[in-house]
Amino acid sequence: DLRRRLNLKRRDEFGELAATFDQMLARLEAAFKQQARFTADASHELRTPLTIINLEINQALTQASTPEEYQQALEQIQVENEQMAAIVNSLLLLARADAGQIALQQEEVDLSDIALASVERLLPLAQRKDITISTGELPELIVQGDPHHLGSMLTNLIENAIKYTSGIGKHVHVELAREGERAVARVRDDGPGIASDHLPFLFDRFYRVDKARTQKGTEEPGGTGLGLAIAQWIVQTHHGEIRVHSTIGSGSLFEVYLPLQPEGAAKPELTCDNK
Ligand code: ADP
Repeated sequence: DLRRRLNLKRRDEFGELAATFDQMLARLEAAFKQQARFTADASHELRTPLTIINLEINQALTQASTPEEYQQALEQIQVENEQMAAIVNSLLLLARADAGQIALQQEEVDLSDIALASVERLLPLAQRKDITISTGELPELIVQGDPHHLGSMLTNLIENAIKYTSGIGKHVHVELAREGERAVARVRDDGPGIASDHLPFLFDRFYRVDKARTQKGTEEPGGTGLGLAIAQWIVQTHHGEIRVHSTIGSGSLFEVYLPLQPEGAAKPELTCDNK
């Protein structure tokens, strides 16, 4: 309403002022809408596991009689509980990130250490799915940043590569390279790939290509759709860039570019504001 009353046709200072004010209001409006959608999505995502837990409890109370039946109900409740915990933890992190409340460490971090630790952590998961992981070149590349957050970002990309790839003989490849003033980490898989119409939304909060993944009955652990949003936040706070290249049928490649620590240069400030 307020925006409609602004006289944007005037060509004097008032017109200019009105135009600036109009742009500010449009940004505010967009921010409010985004916040409202985030809250609605969060509530919806939490309601699914809550509904399933409720159903399982009711069923156990009214129909279960053998220890096996109780055991089965408890196991299902545990899965949903873990899913809720994952959502809540990710939501808390994003909320604190939005509010600029996350104190990031500023250390010299060798990306090759981070990459090796992430791969080692995920080897058991890959083995369970009969997927091989290989590392290409892992040269020492020093960036300025938070080792914990950089580690969880890379772990998330490798975990996704394993999680969304299935079939014997499938392969995930991790490598590091120096490109001018930047380090680049690449995580490649030969999984199903992602259709191009999904790619622009992949880093959005709660965006999942396969919406059915969190439904009851699937064998895969349900995703939250928040992992890549968090990964993007981590990369951006480190003044970097995250990209995805993917086509259906020929796997996916996630690339993370981070500024290399210039030799002997002053430490750059990490930004906590991602807007
Ligand atoms: P999730 O918790 O669902 O894994 P993410 O934000 O990490 O959430 O990923 C968002 C979506 O992107 C996933 O649900 C999946 O559909 C898709 N995706 C991410 N990584 C890959 C990959 N390596 N191969 C195929 N699809 C992927």
